[in-house]
Amino acid sequence: MRALCWVTAGELAVREVPDPELRNERDVIVRVHRSSTCGGDLPLLAGRDPLLRAGDVLGAEFLGEVVEVGPAVRRHRVGDRVVVGASVACGGCWYCRQGLHSCCDNSSADPASTDPGWGRLDAGCFGRPRAAGGFAGGHAEYVRVPYADVGAFQVPDAVDDDRALFAADAAPTGWLAAELGAVRRGDVVAIWGAGAVGQLTARAAVLRGAARVLVVDRHEERLRMAERHSGAEPLDYRRTDIAAELRDRSGGRGPDVCVVAVGTPPARSAADRFGRTAERPDALREAVHACRKSGVVVVLGGVDGFVDAFPLGAVTDRRLTLRGARGPDLRDVPMLLDRMARDQLRTEHLATHRLPLEHGPQGYALFRDRADGCVRAVFTP
Ligand SMILES: [Zn+2]
Repeated sequence: MRALCWVTAGELAVREVPDPELRNERDVIVRVHRSSTCGGDLPLLAGRDPLLRAGDVLGAEFLGEVVEVGPAVRRHRVGDRVVVGASVACGGCWYCRQGLHSCCDNSSADPASTDPGWGRLDAGCFGRPRAAGGFAGGHAEYVRVPYADVGAFQVPDAVDDDRALFAADAAPTGWLAAELGAVRRGDVVAIWGAGAVGQLTARAAVLRGAARVLVVDRHEERLRMAERHSGAEPLDYRRTDIAAELRDRSGGRGPDVCVVAVGTPPARSAADRFGRTAERPDALREAVHACRKSGVVVVLGGVDGFVDAFPLGAVTDRRLTLRGARGPDLRDVPMLLDRMARDQLRTEHLATHRLPLEHGPQGYALFRDRADGCVRAVFTP
């Protein structure tokens, strides 16, 4: 089959790779209809993960049709249209039983290489290297989906592929951010980053009853999109005193919940990922300083290793709660699909560029450079 593979730092290519096969009785094989780029791919694209190998298939977010079913699979039949959660979770470990699928203990395979940097790592993820389980991703004609009863979800007829695709990762990650922030009716919520996850965090906050949702970015078209589709108030940090504006729009206190959804801050080298420093955590510092006393700061995304100059004093002196997440839990996916079916949650506008898989390398270049207003590039095999 054809698949979009990592080759070397800065280089992707569509290659012929072996078809996936059922390897476990709980697997299904999915024929991919759509797959999307994801911010978590960018450090991989740049070659900042030393565990990547030439030929690794990228793609955390995908949707398709079940074509083969393992003998222990109960919820899926050949022909089902399914969206597959980006987090790979076993469904049976202590974390999975609490609904904390993104913390699954069994799906991420290489503690020897990751524990020195992070402590015990969270769940595996599709389209990530060995440290995250080594599961081949969705930028391919076919994907093996392990633990399919846990991670694959039938898509309602009322939801088309373009919308349902984002129930794999961006929508449940945004929902998780609002949940970790304990967003309540009447809250003021500020979000740094108007990419797909930032926009869907904004939408989740609105759906949970936030009184005001403010989105901070510098890309005009992303800010307009957040305003139009999520009901958020746009703030362009090139033109606005963000700290003053956030205070003014929150009764002088600062937002109740601050979410940092800017993706991975740049690190200096591959070695940094496994023990040193990620530079310029500007958005994180700004969020910590802006948040009201006793508020919640939520940090999303794969933050490499360590971050310098973190204002820890502000966390203690102002009684902040700091929470983080790298990938979505799976328990919210059916609820999000239902909201999509009822038109409460629209996501198809995020796919600003639709391309055949053969044009995957060009799609990633647009996505990486935010060129031509690209929010997400979506591929069709
Ligand atoms: Zn588990």
